[in-house]
Amino acid sequence: MPLGKLIFHFFLLATIVVTKTHSWGAVGHAFVARIAMTFLTDSSKTFIKDILPWYVYGNMSMLASWPDNILYPDTNPVGYLNWDWSKPLHYVNTPDYVCQYVPSRDCVEDNCIDGAIQNYTKRLANTALDHVQRQEALQFLVHYVGDIHQPLHSGFTSDRGGNSVRGDDPES
Ligand SMILES: [Zn+2]
Repeated sequence: MPLGKLIFHFFLLATIVVTKTHSWGAVGHAFVARIAMTFLTDSSKTFIKDILPWYVYGNMSMLASWPDNILYPDTNPVGYLNWDWSKPLHYVNTPDYVCQYVPSRDCVEDNCIDGAIQNYTKRLANTALDHVQRQEALQFLVHYVGDIHQPLHSGFTSDRGGNSVRGDDPES
């Protein structure tokens, strides 16, 4: 089996296992970020290494779940409520049984994953922002690109962008 096909099958298997619990989960997000890193140019790698905290050595996968981790008391016991505003940025909803995305209706004031990706891309490139702001922008961007590529972060209003859809066996 060619290596590319083997990697694809491994990725598929990993995402199926991961989706049973937490959507992509930490492993899935790390995997998406790691795959993205293989497409970076040398100058992009250097840029990212300079932006991310020194201890990850430019490895985006090590912080790919940060935007999820900051939201919950078990992973951010002291400050999780401070990040509540970012919850709608992980997905996008359309009205129930309407499959066409309309930004002016579905992403008001950029308060959805589409708006977040656009905003954090601009913030990452904005040299007028300080280092921490650009670092956060990159970490959000890496995560949201992972989120938008999974099946259940784009859904209907009543299923909370797919968050209420069970992908596992309810009997298990
Ligand atoms: Zn997320």
